[in-house]
Amino acid sequence: MVLCPECDTDLDIEEDDIEEGDVVSCAECGSDFEVITANPLELKKVNEEEEDEEEEDEEEEEEESDY
Ligand SMILES: [Zn+2]
Repeated sequence: MVLCPECDTDLDIEEDDIEEGDVVSCAECGSDFEVITANPLELKKVNEEEEDEEEEDEEEEEEESDY
């Protein structure tokens, strides 16, 4: 049994049935979780709006002030 990390609702999925990279949704709170590792099971919440949040690709903003 897999529980939603957010609201502890049974996600109704089998641990044997999920693989790394799968995305599971919680019907109760509407959150999506990506399967980081299948064994042990580790879920990471997916933010649809901020999907680039994970990667820190800070572009160096060169503020060239040409006078
Ligand atoms: Zn939930």
